[in-house]
Amino acid sequence: MTLAATSPVQYVPRIGPSFAKKLEHLGILTVRDLLYHTPFRYNDFSHTTSIARLHPGMMVSVNGEVKQIKNIFTKTGRKIQEAVVTDDTGSITVIWFNQLFLPKIIHAGDQIALSGSVGFFGNKLAIESPEYELIVADKIHLHTGRVVPIYSETAGISSKWLRSRIYFLLTEYPNLIHEYLPDNIRNIYKLPKLEDAIQTVHFPKTVQEGEASEKRLTFDELVLMQCTSFEQKRIWEETKRASAFTIPESIQNTFIQALPFALTNDQHRAIQDVTNDLKKTIPMNRLLEGDVGSGKTVVAGAAMFTTAKNGYQSILMAPTQILAEQHYQTISSLLTPLGLTVELILGGTKQDLTKQNKTDIMIGTHALLQNTVLFSHVGLIVIDEQQRFGVYQRALLRSKAPSDLTPHLLTMTATPIPRTLALTMYGNLSLSILKEMPIGRLPIKTWVVPKEKRDAAYEWIRKEITAQNAQAFIVCPFIEESESMTSVKAATKEFEHLKKQVYQDLTLELLHGRMKQAEKTKLLNDFRSGKTNILVSTPVVEVGIDIPNATVMMIEGAERFGLSQLHQLRGRVGRGDKQSYCLLFTESMESTTIDRLKILETVHNGPELAEHDMRIRGQGDLFGNRQHGIPEMVFSALGDDRIIQNSKEVAQKLITSDPTFISFPHLRERLNESKIQDIAQD
Ligand code: ADP
Ligand code: MG
Repeated sequence: MTLAATSPVQYVPRIGPSFAKKLEHLGILTVRDLLYHTPFRYNDFSHTTSIARLHPGMMVSVNGEVKQIKNIFTKTGRKIQEAVVTDDTGSITVIWFNQLFLPKIIHAGDQIALSGSVGFFGNKLAIESPEYELIVADKIHLHTGRVVPIYSETAGISSKWLRSRIYFLLTEYPNLIHEYLPDNIRNIYKLPKLEDAIQTVHFPKTVQEGEASEKRLTFDELVLMQCTSFEQKRIWEETKRASAFTIPESIQNTFIQALPFALTNDQHRAIQDVTNDLKKTIPMNRLLEGDVGSGKTVVAGAAMFTTAKNGYQSILMAPTQILAEQHYQTISSLLTPLGLTVELILGGTKQDLTKQNKTDIMIGTHALLQNTVLFSHVGLIVIDEQQRFGVYQRALLRSKAPSDLTPHLLTMTATPIPRTLALTMYGNLSLSILKEMPIGRLPIKTWVVPKEKRDAAYEWIRKEITAQNAQAFIVCPFIEESESMTSVKAATKEFEHLKKQVYQDLTLELLHGRMKQAEKTKLLNDFRSGKTNILVSTPVVEVGIDIPNATVMMIEGAERFGLSQLHQLRGRVGRGDKQSYCLLFTESMESTTIDRLKILETVHNGPELAEHDMRIRGQGDLFGNRQHGIPEMVFSALGDDRIIQNSKEVAQKLITSDPTFISFPHLRERLNESKIQDIAQD
């Protein structure tokens, strides 16, 4: 049958529906996905030697004849397969575990190829759990005697299985993947041919060759991401129209002069960026990135004010009810004195539709998306912490606008996206960054507290609370990503302990995501008003809350968090002008762990910490999940400025030679099926 790169993987001979189901766990849906499932490392078994030369610690391949093979069942219940293999120079014991079927497929007299490491079994020299292949005339070896690819695996899908299926695919269907880069471009950047790279990334002659091929594929992913951005930008600019606002300087000044503080330079610049966008008929599509506490809300406020002055409504969507309420308070206090009307829309509240049509600013959660909520003339949409909303929800929100016009869009995020990633991935968005913190904001003094200083630290916190009238957050260790009962139980236990054994004299409350909304709001209000001294919480609870009197943040099990996560958590304090503190508790004694955490003592900049995270732990922490669809290998390349720069140049060359990529059919195909989740396109 014919097979294309886009064919579902189940149509590959020897795969079928049931393996296809398992492959889904690896994100492999199509034939192309399988070919691009590149090894994360190689075992170099290319060194074949004779049995007499084996010694412990070697990683080798040997070829020989099976003299005997049998199952051994030990008294302790272990199931061992033991074989003896000989060549001209000697004999060696070979051991496997729990593979009872082996004596059925390997027999005395068989010629066998083995690859693995040499060690001791009991007091005998042995090859333990090696890869094996029977030697048959004309059969190519995939698992032994060569550089062998090791893949990420899943239940029922081993590296061995992947190797054989990928090999089959590459040999039986050699024309699935085609080069899309013109030769001259390939030559300038010294890139191997794509067909060859795909082949050798799986089955290289040397490890170096494999790594060079992987680099070519990474390069492609980067080019693809940037072409996707260009493409989205082109479509946006060609197809979307907004109403252009008129913005006399007096409008801006009215807003700025009414603020209770002076704007930072970055805030000024961001407001200017936004204002320039709003004057155009191409709708704004801007990402405002700034650390927690950098003052993003005011920038949104300025845009909303302008929008209202032009006779249009604004919508602000926040990811949680608490954040929506907080925005409502902030925005109302800024803009109602200037004559604007602001309304909060939450789930479960009965809405007065007639009134809404006249409201200047609507703030809310997902409830904004309900059918019953109608808007008549939306000119601006602001989305806070966009990564928590799906593409679908954003599209739905958009559909609330008058049908012929696209509202201007401002997305705000405190997720510290490293600059290189932002530029690569979000090239279609305009970017404003708030680097500077408002004046008077002191860096949060941060200490890593070792095990033996725990009691002293508890005492210190008590003093801060009693003598300085401070308040503290205590965040429990990260247990699971979602607010499962396990996390809640752990937090509850910690809370009981603190209340009964440590701070009997203070008022403690527990906050977690499984609580009812009303209960959460009450707890936070009690904390805000100073009634509660210490708020104990799970890690997933509202990062953006703004309680200026809370100055102590204590985090348990700090080693379980990424630096960016810790930075976000500590951003809950240090929001007023008082000195704030962050105490990181860890039970770990490992110096690498302590050193990693200590980075927070000196670095107070979110994106810089994110770069550290990427170097140390990979991207997992940054985004929390894999929804973003960015291939793993792209992350490992982000530290490599050359490859980023080159891929950008190539993307630019491609788009200049053919803005719609029609003459690059395979690139076109990949753009169409691109999985890269766009953060602001619908
Ligand atoms: P975030 O960027 O985390 O959303 P917010 O917009 O919530 O930050 O601002 C955090 C706090 O800083 C708020 O209390 C806000 O009123 C205050 N703030 C914002 N800009 C300034 C400024 N230029 N000077 C002083 N305080 C500011
Ligand atoms: Mg905010």
